[in-house]
Amino acid sequence: MSATADGLTYSAFTGWSDRPTDFAPALKGEVQCDVAVVGGGLVGMASALRLAERGADVVLLEAGHCGWGASSRNAGYLSNALAGDPQLLRLLYRRRLRDLIRYGENSAHFTEGLIERLAIDCEYDPTGNVIAGVSAGQLQRLKKNVRILRDAGADVEFVEGPDFGLPGTFLGGIFERGGGLLNPGKLALGLRDALLASSAKVFERTAVQAVEPDGASVVVRVPGGRVHAERVVLATNAHSRDLEIAPSGITPIWTSLVETEPVDPDRLAAIGWTSRTGIITPHTILENYRRTARGTIMFGTRRLQAAPGVLGAREPDRTVVADLVRGFHERFPSLSYVAPQRAWGGWVAMTSFLPVAGEVAKNVFYAVSCNGHGLAQSPYIGTLLADRLAGDEIHDDLRAIWRPRPPYMPSFALGAPTLKAGWAVDRISDRLSRGR
Ligand SMILES: Cc1cc2nc3c(=O)[nH]c(=O)nc-3n(C[C@H](O)[C@H](O)[C@H](O)COP(=O)(O)OP(=O)(O)OC[C@H]3O[C@@H](n4cnc5c(N)ncnc54)[C@H](O)[C@@H]3O)c2cc1C
Repeated sequence: MSATADGLTYSAFTGWSDRPTDFAPALKGEVQCDVAVVGGGLVGMASALRLAERGADVVLLEAGHCGWGASSRNAGYLSNALAGDPQLLRLLYRRRLRDLIRYGENSAHFTEGLIERLAIDCEYDPTGNVIAGVSAGQLQRLKKNVRILRDAGADVEFVEGPDFGLPGTFLGGIFERGGGLLNPGKLALGLRDALLASSAKVFERTAVQAVEPDGASVVVRVPGGRVHAERVVLATNAHSRDLEIAPSGITPIWTSLVETEPVDPDRLAAIGWTSRTGIITPHTILENYRRTARGTIMFGTRRLQAAPGVLGAREPDRTVVADLVRGFHERFPSLSYVAPQRAWGGWVAMTSFLPVAGEVAKNVFYAVSCNGHGLAQSPYIGTLLADRLAGDEIHDDLRAIWRPRPPYMPSFALGAPTLKAGWAVDRISDRLSRGR
């Protein structure tokens, strides 16, 4: 963690919670099991927990600690929406759109249920979320999108900004009734506690080096030993590309968040911000603004960054944070006195807008439910995959995202030049709408 001249503290972990102090042991030696889960994010933890609850002998291997990755770092929008503009999704996935929308809705309900069942105190507030436009052009597009989403079965409605309690910059938008806001650090730690209390064998600080199918079983290699499993679940998200066996075409992208000092709620009410619903803008690269249970404001994304060679712990770039703060001041001019206090970020995995799951090699399964929208989907997809491995028929929602071979977005489409171009398009459209 480092404090800098701009007065912010930059963290290479999350700002939502502290690291646990009770690490599970690292794996040493040889272990046998029914299923080995690689990666202890929401996907991996939910999968391992479900398998343990269903009586399987399950081992989970995590390079850091469970919840180290995106799962504890995200912005905390438990959303029933998929990534990607609905018009684009309809173009690309017309026949599957209804199934995908149902999958998204069920994901949010499932994760709400999981939080309740495990009694995880993660400050969950079922406010729904709103995609709010900041220009007349965005508003037009949102009106069209709300029709597409409703036709496909989504529980959404168009709302006017002032009526809905949004600050003046946000003219109105699509209110997604399902889901809400939470503290993802607490959610990840709560799920970790449930997993550690289960019969699953958890090994932390255990980075998997290779996953090798070997006849009827699979060998998982770690620095201090090996796991012999009948089947393996890869739940490595953006880090998937570091494993030779993982499906290709999963592109890691870095995304950053900033949190301010606490703000008096009366000052927010004075600018018309009475709603507690999380706000997302429909820019090419979205912006998000939300209030937190600790009285602060959190904002992020706006500028995505391509991955260098090695993905590791890192702090957000100062230039990206400065741009996020500029965006906050543009959207909330009367809150310019509010000091940003800290910044962090994390790796998301990009595919072709959709979450994906499948069997990448004999007995080696995977699930990547991200594109920056995996908070609700990850526990669901992990659980559905576990049920399939436990012998159930494939669930319709898992079928909706099942991909035997991965025809995802080519990684050049998400390289540094494209991401910079996306940011530039957004700034030009902001400038044009201000000039109107
Ligand atoms: C800054 C940020 C903001 C976001 N905001 C939102 C949001 O508001 N709403 C939303 O829905 N989604 C959001 N997301 C996305 C969401 O957090 C992810 O989709 C979700 O957490 C993915 O869960 P996961 O289990 O797949 O991955 P992760 O949580 O990344 O877990 C993967 C785990 O695998 C481990 N691992 C990787 N390789 C190995 C290996 N070789 N051996 C052992 N372990 C390994 C990693 O250490 C990591 O703990 C955001 C993401 C970020 C980074």
